[in-house]
Amino acid sequence: MSAKDDTKTFRAETKAWLQENFPSSLREGGAQAILGGRKVDEDTARDAELWRQHLVDQGWGTPTWPKEYGGAGLDGNQLNILQDEMAAIGAYNPIPGMTGNGITMVGPTILDYGTEEQKRSHLPPMARGEIYWCIGYSEPNSGSDLASLSTKAEDNGDCWIINGQKIWTSGADISQWCGMLVRTDSSAKKRDGISFMLVDMNQPGITTRLIKLISGNSPFCETFLTDARAEKDGLLGPLNEGWSVGKRLLQHERFSQTGSRSSAEPSKAERLEDMAKRYVGTDDQGNLADADLRARLVDHLMGARAHSLTLQRIADEARGKIEVSATASILKNSATTVAQTRSELVLEMMGHQGLGWEGAEFKPGELAATRGWLSGKAMSIAGGSFEIQKNIIGKNILGLPETTQQG
Ligand SMILES: Cc1cc2nc3c(=O)[nH]c(=O)nc-3n(C[C@H](O)[C@H](O)[C@H](O)COP(=O)(O)OP(=O)(O)OC[C@H]3O[C@@H](n4cnc5c(N)ncnc54)[C@H](O)[C@@H]3O)c2cc1C
Repeated sequence: MSAKDDTKTFRAETKAWLQENFPSSLREGGAQAILGGRKVDEDTARDAELWRQHLVDQGWGTPTWPKEYGGAGLDGNQLNILQDEMAAIGAYNPIPGMTGNGITMVGPTILDYGTEEQKRSHLPPMARGEIYWCIGYSEPNSGSDLASLSTKAEDNGDCWIINGQKIWTSGADISQWCGMLVRTDSSAKKRDGISFMLVDMNQPGITTRLIKLISGNSPFCETFLTDARAEKDGLLGPLNEGWSVGKRLLQHERFSQTGSRSSAEPSKAERLEDMAKRYVGTDDQGNLADADLRARLVDHLMGARAHSLTLQRIADEARGKIEVSATASILKNSATTVAQTRSELVLEMMGHQGLGWEGAEFKPGELAATRGWLSGKAMSIAGGSFEIQKNIIGKNILGLPETTQQG
């Protein structure tokens, strides 16, 4: 059978399976409500759980992972087809969201560096959406200069004993496990004495305190470690080589922040140009009334299209081998620029209506625009700031000499 026939068959089978298994209650607004974090009735909640189970049985919560670890072993082309067909009927993949930083970051890093035992013990529960993971990198004095981190892990013979403090740990209060960078050799140069550990969060040695954000949410914590324990087999990758493991995880994180469709989301949003006309009005010829806004809107739409075509090209070129590299830094920065510019434009179009916090005079979309604009500020900080990505691009892609962060 030719590759073309294979593709056709896979699309037809995928379509048929989705028609049969994606519950109708989720098609009629249920999926949108669940993704938007809104409360749903009992029947819809039961259907959502049924849908999770069907997806997991099929391996489609983590479609590209090997079958033995809970995935379906799909290649890039099949992944695109699956995502297209899911989007076409408004289906969604709840699994990545149920694992915090698991599916997008820790999971792929375990696939890259884990022992067979680590893969078998950590990946299948993640693929079922059962375990929530956080990332313990940043510390009060180590953000961009992450290599200076001082949380220390000492080998006491039976296990590792960890002492120190992490900060900005997303979801630490609700996580069962953490992928953590710790110092295991204080005498080595700073990047050489770091190790990556898989740490169980449910233990008395770990406490968390929520940090409140400007958007009103508290998605992350300060995390305190006082004689916390990590099992000896919790070391991911070689001892004192955690810097390489940690950088790999960041590449996975940045790739997940590029706007690629890692989880198929039903997209029925109003087009930006239509929203602009609705709020700002049109001239005699039906064009957006404000010529200056029109020019900036076109510029943004072209940038967004170029970003999305670049992502598509990378996925096509990968032909199944979805690999991450330093180029994730370029994509992360362009995704950030596209998303933040979009938020600014939306606010400008909406005027006062785009600055509501609560109240009946604002439509749900307007309130969401305000919160989205504020929480979108985090995109140029989380996973390594905009400036740090530029440093990585300069050094690792353009080959320019390193002038900062030596160590
Ligand atoms: C929403 C969100 C979620 C996060 N989740 C997590 C998480 O789960 N786990 C975790 O460990 N961390 C997390 N972080 C923390 C994040 O990784 C850090 O905030 C980030 O690395 C920047 O570090 P910092 O805040 O200490 O800023 P700093 O490093 O103090 O930087 C301050 C400013 O100086 C600039 N700067 C610093 N050094 C340089 C340089 N060499 N060259 C040019 N400019 C420079 C930066 O770009 C930035 O603008 C999260 C952050 C956010 C916003």
